[in-house]
Amino acid sequence: MYIGGRWCPAASTDAIEVVNPADEQVIGTVPAGTAQDVDAAVRAARAALPGWAATPPAERAARLSALRDTLAARREEIAATITAELGAPLAFARSVHADLPIAVAGSFAELAARHPFEERIDNSTVLHEPVGVVGAITPWNYPLHQIVAKAAPALAAGCTMVLKPAEDTPLVARIFAEAVHAAGLPAGVFNLVTGVGPVAGQALVEHPGVDLVSFTGSTAVGRTIGALAGGAVKRVALELGGKSANVILPDADLARAVNVGVANVFANSGQTCSAWTRVLVSADRYEEAVALAAKAAAKYAPGDPQAPDTRLGPVVSAAQRDRVRGYIERGIAEGARLVAGGPQAPEGRERGYYVRPTVFADVTEDMAIAQEEIFGPVIAFLPYRDEEEAVRIANGTVYGLAGAVWSADEATAVAFARRLETGQVDINGGRFNPRAPFGGYKQSGVGRELGPHGLAEYLQTKSLQF
Ligand code: NAD
Repeated sequence: MYIGGRWCPAASTDAIEVVNPADEQVIGTVPAGTAQDVDAAVRAARAALPGWAATPPAERAARLSALRDTLAARREEIAATITAELGAPLAFARSVHADLPIAVAGSFAELAARHPFEERIDNSTVLHEPVGVVGAITPWNYPLHQIVAKAAPALAAGCTMVLKPAEDTPLVARIFAEAVHAAGLPAGVFNLVTGVGPVAGQALVEHPGVDLVSFTGSTAVGRTIGALAGGAVKRVALELGGKSANVILPDADLARAVNVGVANVFANSGQTCSAWTRVLVSADRYEEAVALAAKAAAKYAPGDPQAPDTRLGPVVSAAQRDRVRGYIERGIAEGARLVAGGPQAPEGRERGYYVRPTVFADVTEDMAIAQEEIFGPVIAFLPYRDEEEAVRIANGTVYGLAGAVWSADEATAVAFARRLETGQVDINGGRFNPRAPFGGYKQSGVGRELGPHGLAEYLQTKSLQF
């Protein structure tokens, strides 16, 4: 555990084994933290809060900038660690798993330096003050990005924090804590407690010394955490699941929309909350789109994530593999047409948690594969007759995290995007913006991450009247 600026033993000797999903070998262990460790970490964060909250924003920005530089200097090690514990192909681990959080840390360092922490409204001065001690709970799918998307704005805002990372991918969290240390953040500002969700995670949510719980993970766990935090009248931010629609309007460049869409879902083995897992195509171009997708899927042979040309690695765990294969079986049983992939282990990949990249056609709205988050390399194609039906299908799930709209006419795509009940829409492929707010409508969550909106989550306002 990293508590109060030093590495210290956990209260219990219980450990969590970390497994490489490509070969099923144990690659390390981390302590299984308990309520006692969480309590020590929260106390350290509370003790550090007055000092860090009073540190001038420019100084906080300088520390964050040093943190960004430390992460950048360890880019290769970060990528290798994430490849080993998550199974992400090495090239993707470098360009996304490492470079994205480095960019996000840099963007919050800049923001901390120039954010208006004070504003004037008529005869009032409004102060934007840190909420206090943050309890951050993160998932395994983008292990470092999820940490930085919480830690960087929390620290920029002047909050102190305790992180409980996902039990499947805790090794990169250790690198992050070392980077915090090397960047010279004061002791207790950032604390790390590893452990399992229902023990260490729940203890963090319930701890009276935590003012804000920021959680990213499944909607099921988010609901429990939201209820606990709500009961204690704590601030809560929830980044949850998704079932995003990729809407290809009739005039779109079909080949590009399908190829980018397939790449979007198969990246990270489909373990992306914002993946465009439902592809909506007008009925007259539907078969052409399905054929293009089947052809594209053939280029994603599951392979060793260490190999330079691998585009699709394993999924994170045996449990996740079984869950994804279960959904593929369910899709077949429900009557969807399998056009690529299937539930069997990929050829030559019986060892490791591999899943075939799978494309389903003739998916209807009522099927589980059209409604539930699979979190694996599985795409569902649904036809639509007209724009009204496309809007209805796109909005027809409990989720609303992301999405895409394609049209030869940008204004047409934007008009369609306005009708979507979702937090983020990529127009004609879009381009990732690390400062644009990210978060969900409906059961995809509460609150936003990244950029000034992400920073605002960690601030509370006080007004002084004159
Ligand atoms: P999960 O909900 O099982 O676990 C997430 C985290 O919560 C882990 O650290 C876990 O230990 C902890 N946890 C589990 N039970 C807990 C409890 N009772 N109390 C406190 N903490 C608890 O999710 P996962 O399987 O790790 O991640 C996959 C899910 O995350 C998917 O549903 C995905 O869509 C979602 N996700 C959402 C976003 C987003 O930004 N909206 C981003 C990535 C992943």
